[in-house]
Amino acid sequence: MEFLRTILLFLFLVFSLPLPAGGFQWPIPEKHARMISSTFGESRLDHFHAGVDIPGKGIPVLPMKEGAVIFAMERNIRPNELPFGGGKTIVMEHPDLSWSVYMHLDTINAQLYTQKDISREQTIGHSGDSGHSGGAHLHFGLYYPEENRIANPLKYLPQKEIFYVNNASPSIKQFGVLMEDRFAIIRDIEKPLTMTKDYNMYAAIEDSVNGKERWGVYSLKTYKDNDKKPVISWDMESIYFKNQKWLTKNGLEFHRVFYDRFYNLGNHFRDATNITIEATGLNGVPIRKEYTLNIIKNK
Ligand SMILES: [Zn+2]
Repeated sequence: MEFLRTILLFLFLVFSLPLPAGGFQWPIPEKHARMISSTFGESRLDHFHAGVDIPGKGIPVLPMKEGAVIFAMERNIRPNELPFGGGKTIVMEHPDLSWSVYMHLDTINAQLYTQKDISREQTIGHSGDSGHSGGAHLHFGLYYPEENRIANPLKYLPQKEIFYVNNASPSIKQFGVLMEDRFAIIRDIEKPLTMTKDYNMYAAIEDSVNGKERWGVYSLKTYKDNDKKPVISWDMESIYFKNQKWLTKNGLEFHRVFYDRFYNLGNHFRDATNITIEATGLNGVPIRKEYTLNIIKNK
């Protein structure tokens, strides 16, 4: 009797544990795997890239987890047809109440309109370039509606080097300064630089496996001189869309993070003697670089 109770308690504990981290799967079968072409949180000029892209046309798309289809749209809406450029789109709800989103599809499996509960082995559609898309790819995203949180899918997917490998450091390509009337590109930040006002400084920073990819970075911190407190600090674990504004988890608006595709390093560097940039990919090697500034404060 005691033995049976132990067994029952054991079974209860095992089955009441939360789902393991492997609960989500990549939405493309491994035999069709391609390295991701865009990562989460990159600049899309006026908003953050709210998902991850895998290139390719006609590739079968799998659900990231078993669940129910709550939205499927066949119409190929063009970018000027507001409000939505996702093209053929599927949204699913999963047992953990997350939603997964699949966009720019070429086809949607017709079965989804009658059969609502979908297993993780079932093809839900094929990748394409419907909607606002520059070349065929699957865009997929993960959303937690109860928290109004757009999550970085790469934090939830198993690490698979065939889709994403991050063993390199990001590289800092060039710098820029945003003035009232123009954005000036600066190739060498350590050369004398005339700054008449306390303008924001920017840097093009790219992450990749071996220089081929041009992914955005996962996190950024900048420091002025030897300050302990960063000037700019954020990571792309999650983003939010609130009151028509795109925000990082710590509340930075899109334009505080990006100008075009340049990362904002912050301001108040006019009196500084150096600037330190610390950037990381999702789980790669961080880069930490200190630059000696030579700013001439012309009036
Ligand atoms: Zn995308």
